[in-house]
Amino acid sequence: PASWEARAESSSFYGFTDLPSVKARGTVVITHGEGPYVIDTNGRRYLDGNSGLWNMVAGFDHAGLTEAAKAQYDRFPGYHAFFGRMSDQTVMLSEKLIEVSPYERGRVFYTNSGSEANDTLVKMLWFLARAEDQPRRRKILTRKNAYHGVTAVSASMTGKPYNELFGLPLPDFIHLTCPHYWREGRPGETEAQFTARMAAELEEVIAREGAETIAGFFAEPVMGAGGAIPPSAGYFQAIQPILKKHGIPLISDEVICGFGRTGHVWGCETYDFVPDAIISSKALTAGYFPMGAVILGPDLADRLHRASEAVEEFPHGFTASGHPVGCAIALKAIDVILNEGLLENVRRLTPLFEEGMNRLAENPNIGEFRGKGLMGALEAVADKPTKTPFPSTLSVSERIANTCTDHGLICRPLGQSIVLCPPFILTEGQMDEMFTKLEAALGEVFAGLGAEA
Ligand code: PMP
Repeated sequence: PASWEARAESSSFYGFTDLPSVKARGTVVITHGEGPYVIDTNGRRYLDGNSGLWNMVAGFDHAGLTEAAKAQYDRFPGYHAFFGRMSDQTVMLSEKLIEVSPYERGRVFYTNSGSEANDTLVKMLWFLARAEDQPRRRKILTRKNAYHGVTAVSASMTGKPYNELFGLPLPDFIHLTCPHYWREGRPGETEAQFTARMAAELEEVIAREGAETIAGFFAEPVMGAGGAIPPSAGYFQAIQPILKKHGIPLISDEVICGFGRTGHVWGCETYDFVPDAIISSKALTAGYFPMGAVILGPDLADRLHRASEAVEEFPHGFTASGHPVGCAIALKAIDVILNEGLLENVRRLTPLFEEGMNRLAENPNIGEFRGKGLMGALEAVADKPTKTPFPSTLSVSERIANTCTDHGLICRPLGQSIVLCPPFILTEGQMDEMFTKLEAALGEVFAGLGAEA
């Protein structure tokens, strides 16, 4: 019989299987997990330094989570949250989400993914604009390098050049400068000046477009898929008053940051701002169920409630919105993160993580370590003083990630950087293992590039 690798490659269309570097080394086909490790069909173990896709924060074999899933499947295995019916789990999760949110009251809407949650909130803002007799209020502001998803709307919000391959963004989606001081700062510009420039740009865009045409501003507290990029100091404090002045809601896309990644429940807590709404997914169920949530603060919740009443309903929803199994798992995941020491472990491990990353950043080919809490990136550079990147044709970050895989560590190449976001259950020993493996891979790859040059 053909190998698992060959079967995966001939039967599964996931564009990445077609990458030359993946083809050369074969697709890793995984059968199970153990704590922060995943195990492939050949019995090889990999420390998953990426928590799956940022989401498996409690590891891959958390008995409490699988028991919660099984118990709910036995009790009531599926339902929707519409037409005046919803499961008790859906109600309980909504109450819990408001309780742990920055809001005293609010409303929750469920989706199957983070993309759909962003897409849903954009539709809510458009619905609201028309109901409030401001039909021109349609434009959505995001930032270059931001990642908000893959549906036509959330991909339009995403500030990545590859969306041009789809003829996106759609009209009405505007991407501002990425607030990455190290890369975007001008020579001689202080970080405070840089932040002021980001705020001035926002003012200019609002003046140019007209505040009455802008429906919302979406931002990840720390950009994830852009390469673990924290905002410049004071960024949210500089932009929020501008948005407030013009009546433009600020939305925090907490799909990655939410539920502990940056050391607080929410990334907006870490950066000390209260958004008008929160988008959640991933760690919401510790990755044990595909689910997203829109959490509306009191102002948007009240306005949307009035607008829906006026036309009898908000005509939007998914078959599995508020799925009882997903909600039961999310309730358990939130309990595990907040009450079983996971968030505490993020806080305890963060200094060690930073120490390890800073040590690796001493490498002459690493230009910057950046990150927050248990998410961080090392940016490869050909020349450190001038921050000159390697030619993209060398695929340096892919080479590093592939070499890590050979060493039994999974980490993610994003642009010219290598991103780590390990599960919250990591031990200090596993943290050491992660850095030992990454250090070995960096050494091998940079030595190899030196030999090639
Ligand atoms: N927003 C952010 C910040 C994300 O990181 C992601 C996924 N990586 C999404 C939205 C989209 O979520 P999903 O993949 O579940 O659609």
